[in-house]
Amino acid sequence: MTTSLTVTALIRHVRRLGEAHREQAELLDLTHDTVFVRDMSDVISYWNHGAEELYGWTKEEAIGKTSPHLLKTRFPVPFGEITEALLNTGRWDGELIRTRRDGRQVVVASRLSLKRSENGRPLAKLETNIDVTERRRTEESLRRSQAQYLAEAQKLSLTGSFGWNVSSGEVFWSEQSFRIFEYDPSIPPTIEALLQRTHPDDVAFVQKTLEHAIEARRDFDFQHRLLMPDGAIKHLHIVAHAEKESVFKLQYFGAVKDVSAARQAEEQLHETRSELARMSRVTALGELSASIAHEVTQPLAAIVANGEACLRWLFHPTPQPDEVQTCVQYMIADARRASEIVLRIRMLLKKDTPQKTQLCLNEVINDVASLIQHEILTHRVSLRLELAPGLPPLHAGRVELQQVILNLAINGIQAMGGIDDGPRELVIKTFQDEAGNVVASVQDSGTGIKPESIGRLFDPFFTTKPDGMGMGLSICHSIVEAHGGRVWASNRTGRGAIFQLSLPPFAKAGGL
Ligand code: ADP
Repeated sequence: MTTSLTVTALIRHVRRLGEAHREQAELLDLTHDTVFVRDMSDVISYWNHGAEELYGWTKEEAIGKTSPHLLKTRFPVPFGEITEALLNTGRWDGELIRTRRDGRQVVVASRLSLKRSENGRPLAKLETNIDVTERRRTEESLRRSQAQYLAEAQKLSLTGSFGWNVSSGEVFWSEQSFRIFEYDPSIPPTIEALLQRTHPDDVAFVQKTLEHAIEARRDFDFQHRLLMPDGAIKHLHIVAHAEKESVFKLQYFGAVKDVSAARQAEEQLHETRSELARMSRVTALGELSASIAHEVTQPLAAIVANGEACLRWLFHPTPQPDEVQTCVQYMIADARRASEIVLRIRMLLKKDTPQKTQLCLNEVINDVASLIQHEILTHRVSLRLELAPGLPPLHAGRVELQQVILNLAINGIQAMGGIDDGPRELVIKTFQDEAGNVVASVQDSGTGIKPESIGRLFDPFFTTKPDGMGMGLSICHSIVEAHGGRVWASNRTGRGAIFQLSLPPFAKAGGL
């Protein structure tokens, strides 16, 4: 009796359990997600309605089959790794590619959980899937169209991009970068490949610039030339930002722009400008030498004549000191006249009275800085401006002051022309001195001034350059003096020269 009661209770319990399972299974059918269960050998034991919809196989067809086989699963990592993760952690998440009954491929986000028996033995794998095919497809086509737009934009703007992992040596070039360097996109991009295309005269400069940037872990921004296999020259502008992820990791992301066209236009402009300058110099020089010849020859001829007469009187059988004295007096007077003529010619050179306005010296220097960009680039000089803010304004001619600063800057750049080692740095500073005057200094790291030249720099026609005219500093001197200021030069300790000019502020210089 007791036994039969127990059996009946047991049967009822088992039935209840069965019903609970069936109810749970029916509930799982209501969800839109795909759920299926398989044993440890991947034989499918449960297949919900969502699975039927996603994969096209009915319950009857799927149950009893092995899942990787039925669904031709492609795993993102080796299958063993998935099993291992499942056994160790009880779960695994990832994306799988599977083939439906109708042959179409689907991408599914898969989540696997492991069911264990009470004593911990792995029993079954429960898998849920969400179909992400459409999402992936949209993302992929978006990525593709973005990449395409980017490639087109790079092509149009002649700008390529690159990445450089300095720590691992890996380099990435965009399609346009390959096009700029004229390499086949199948070759691995490297820094050596860049250097191979670099103009031989610029290789050392590029290497040094990159080395310095890496050493200081700093951004870089420079221009250089490429020499293409067909002999063509390209001008490039390379800019890159340093990503410092850790002490050991340094990466650059940058852009490389082909600026040949802009450079050519600039060079043409420069040529036209210097041709104009040369012509006006030639004209000025022609006029000047004509008037010098005309006006100075006469007193010089008189000096020569009087000198000869002097000699004659000196070596006369009866020397005539009175005559000698008269001749010498004439000679002195003629020499004075000649130097007055030279002075007058100098005054002529600056005959148009400058239009003086209230202006700021820093602005004048900024104007000049943009005018000399070409010289700075071609002479590989770096220009540093240290302009004091809040300087009082000046009462001056803008063009005249530009001419002064321009002359000093160009002289500085030329003085660094013959320097092969060490930095070539032109520094222009402004500040206010103790007397309240506004001071500008132009310093270079060039050859410096020879001691024997230092007293004659500002003399007209003093030059040490084979093609120099020696008028630049003399004109600077006249202009600065006409503004009530002072200009002077000295050698720097170390290397190079420093030219300084001081000008009274507006209030003291005839302004308000
Ligand atoms: P030019 O440039 O035609 O020679 P300048 O009057 O401008 O005429 O300069 C006169 C001379 O002064 C130059 O030939 C050169 O010897 C010297 N000089 C000018 N600037 C510098 C400088 N920054 N460093 C060294 N010497 C200089």
